[in-house]
Amino acid sequence: MLNNGHHINLFYENRLFLSKNNKNRPAIFLDRDGVVIKENHYISDISEVELEFGVNDVFELADSIDIPVIIVTNQSGIARGFLKWDDYFNVTEKMISLINKKNTLLAIYSNGLNPDAPLYSWRKPNPSMILNAAFTLNLDLKKSIFIGDRLTDLTAGLKSGITQLIHIRTGHGSEEREEVERFFTKNKLSHNLELKLIDKFNKQSVIDIHKYFNK
Ligand SMILES: [Mg+2]
Repeated sequence: MLNNGHHINLFYENRLFLSKNNKNRPAIFLDRDGVVIKENHYISDISEVELEFGVNDVFELADSIDIPVIIVTNQSGIARGFLKWDDYFNVTEKMISLINKKNTLLAIYSNGLNPDAPLYSWRKPNPSMILNAAFTLNLDLKKSIFIGDRLTDLTAGLKSGITQLIHIRTGHGSEEREEVERFFTKNKLSHNLELKLIDKFNKQSVIDIHKYFNK
């Protein structure tokens, strides 16, 4: 689906695509750049696509506990003219080829909008991509988690109703860590948030992610 700066990949063939009993289920939402693949600044060439350290362990976990994964990504490089949608599609294909448990990936939501896109647009920190995924894929946002390297990822999650948020230090994570901590110290109580700070995906962080779904 390509429409006015938006694109969605929906993987109908996945065993998790239809929810059992039509019930809403939790999901793991991941930002793309700096979380699923290494942040390589407006990636247009598939040779620049490299999985982020340990992310395959997250897909393994999702597979073992039957939790779907949704990727939501801003691609302003398209509006800025650094890449075309065709480049984005090739990068997506390469990324998927590197994921071991592809059967957990239900959808990839993307927008090619400029940072000055209006408030109701698909661009994070607006929650539109997440809300659209929740509606289309029967997801329970209250029980879902969002993992991102930027504050705008986490605020998009928050605005959508996700309160379990993970900030990772990969990608832009290091430069934004302080700002993230400041924002959440200020807003934690009022929003009943649970924010976890991790350095990268490793055994411990995967155990921590698992805990969210064991409550
Ligand atoms: Mg990112």
